[in-house]
Amino acid sequence: MRIDVVSLFPEMFSVVGDLGVTGRAHRLGLWSLHVWNPRDYTHDIHRTVDDRPYGGGPGMVMLAEPLEAALDDALAHRGTRGGSSSIPVILMSPAGRRFDQTMAEELASGPGAVFICGRYEGVDQRFIDRRVTHEVSLGDFVLSGGELPAMACIDAAVRLLPGALNDRDSAKQDSFNEATSGLLDSPHYTRPELYHGLGVPEILRSGHHANIAVWRREQSLALTAARRPDLLEKARREGRLSKKDEAFLRSLEL
Ligand code: SAH
Repeated sequence: MRIDVVSLFPEMFSVVGDLGVTGRAHRLGLWSLHVWNPRDYTHDIHRTVDDRPYGGGPGMVMLAEPLEAALDDALAHRGTRGGSSSIPVILMSPAGRRFDQTMAEELASGPGAVFICGRYEGVDQRFIDRRVTHEVSLGDFVLSGGELPAMACIDAAVRLLPGALNDRDSAKQDSFNEATSGLLDSPHYTRPELYHGLGVPEILRSGHHANIAVWRREQSLALTAARRPDLLEKARREGRLSKKDEAFLRSLEL
């Protein structure tokens, strides 16, 4: 997977490129990262990347031209093999589709994408109309730039790449995962056995793997029912709940 990013703050991407699970996967060559700064594609002495909005009002708007030149360079460097036009060009935007695990899986199973990070009040609409294929939002709040949302998407996808997580911390147990029927993860405990007077559920110390699996499934079901009934409904609709799951959920309602 190759990730290209167009951003006025390239340094920010050392967070996903160098640190933790995504940094390790990067060093292993499971994915590559290339960041393109629109400022490098300006031609005036001030290296201008923004201007005042037509129609007035506060703030500045990112110029279309440096963005487009940076994007062109990114696509050119990807090469035309596979057709660079088929590469998603994703603008991070509060107006986009809300990012979720399914989108992370799609990204992880493809050739990658070019992420466009807005700043200021946003980017000239004509750049969006001409070049952007997808708009993605991180949620219903406004950040100062598209860098953190882009990094969130990249992280969520990279950790799904085969070999990114070792077996011990595989994504299988994670929330929203297919293997967990898209439910929330169960609670975790580690040493010490007694922490400020609080113990560890007996079953987790029993060594009885089948019972532990049942306990975890029930914890997932109960937590999802309490916090995210929408996810439970979805799992039900998709036929991902077993008879045993349903029986357990009915027992909760008593
Ligand atoms: N004027 C815009 C917000 C601009 S914030 C509005 O009201 O919608 C500057 C940039 O930060 C945006 O162009 C976008 O790239 C990024 N950004 C801010 N919030 C975001 C979010 N929730 N999801 C994705 N990107 C976001």
